Amino acid sequence: ARASRSSRSPSDLSVSFEFFPPKTEAMEETLWRSIERLAPLAPDFVSVTYGAGGSTRERTHATVARILSETGLKPAAHLTCVGATKGEVDAVVDSYAEAGVRHIVALRGDPVEGIGTAYRAHPGGYDRAADLVEAIRSHHPEIEVSVSAYAERHPESPDWSTEIDNLKRKVDAGATRAITQFFFDNDLYSAFLDRVAAAGISIPIVPGIVPVLNFSQTAKFAQKAGASVPDWFAARFEGLEEDQATRQLVAAAVCAEQVLDLVDRGVSDFHFYTMNRADLVYAICHLLGMRPVKPAAPDAAAA
Ligand code: FAD
Repeated sequence: ARASRSSRSPSDLSVSFEFFPPKTEAMEETLWRSIERLAPLAPDFVSVTYGAGGSTRERTHATVARILSETGLKPAAHLTCVGATKGEVDAVVDSYAEAGVRHIVALRGDPVEGIGTAYRAHPGGYDRAADLVEAIRSHHPEIEVSVSAYAERHPESPDWSTEIDNLKRKVDAGATRAITQFFFDNDLYSAFLDRVAAAGISIPIVPGIVPVLNFSQTAKFAQKAGASVPDWFAARFEGLEEDQATRQLVAAAVCAEQVLDLVDRGVSDFHFYTMNRADLVYAICHLLGMRPVKPAAPDAAAA
């Protein structure tokens, strides 16, 4: 195992970082400290999420525009189909194209009534992510499109063939990369890659990695998102509810273990759900062999 880790040079690896648009000035500061801390690692791209039901349309756009104008990073804007007509969604895409954004993460989004309720498309809107991919690629072929994938199936998928068919539709519509929902059991990801390959899908299926900053919150989110939390994984955080310092060390160790095992399995691209925090992700990238391209800012340690 160690041989395969050390034989892979950092230049073979590529990482991307996901952020969410900040709501307050304090959150904005945290986000920008994190972006400044992570930028010297030269990520392939950094993505900015789109709030449930399109609630962050302006904030997502503003964050993406600031990344474009103030950093050398390549931003990817997330966009969903929820609660908007095709014309409204197309207008958002046009405004990104005009601002110089060349990468969109195209998603369907969750039901307006909340995860677990039946999804109903807006009467004049796009039904599913594949339709959005098709629209973006036909109006703006200069824009690269990434999509979601689910190593444990999307909660609404009745079976694997529906799941893989849906991914295939998105690829046929022009998506060139899929990013997975987070998972903790790498065997599930490997099994998913086998299903994807068997269906003749050849785009990169980049694992989405979530650092567990708060176990109970992550477990709740995992349940909604259809990601399983194995007992052995939960056991690692047992009894640490009131012990933040140990929890952070354990979170870093657990995340390192997952990522290095994926490297051993031949994975070279990683997408990190940063939650707008840099430290843990920076440390994991360091373990992957990545070093800052230019020295980090002097106050970077505070990020
Ligand atoms: P789709 O790929 O369109 O479909 C999801 C599943 O539903 C499919 O697997 C398929 O089995 C089933 N399905 C859909 N349509 C049909 C149909 N017509 N017939 C049969 N089955 C169907 N949400 C946000 O709100 N904002 C974000 O920024 C955001 N970013 C994300 C980033 C990543 C990497 C991931 C993995 C998820 C993200 N999400 C985000 C969550 C996502 O919006 C939800 O998981 C949503 O429920 C599904 O969106 P999708 O694009 O995966 O949908």
